[in-house]
Amino acid sequence: MSEKVKDPVCGMEVEKGRICSEYKDKKYCFCSESCKEQFEQSPEKYITDSSGCCH
Ligand SMILES: [Zn+2]
Repeated sequence: MSEKVKDPVCGMEVEKGRICSEYKDKKYCFCSESCKEQFEQSPEKYITDSSGCCH
């Protein structure tokens, strides 16, 4: 059974453990290498942290 997680870049549901990246102790998974690259370029842009809103 594979766990589904949300690709923070495009919002697609993806299988955990394929293309993943860790950022601030959290693991994020992506549908493709290009989404991963986009995330790594500006992770803050894609992380929706409910505890914070605006900069
Ligand atoms: Zn994606």
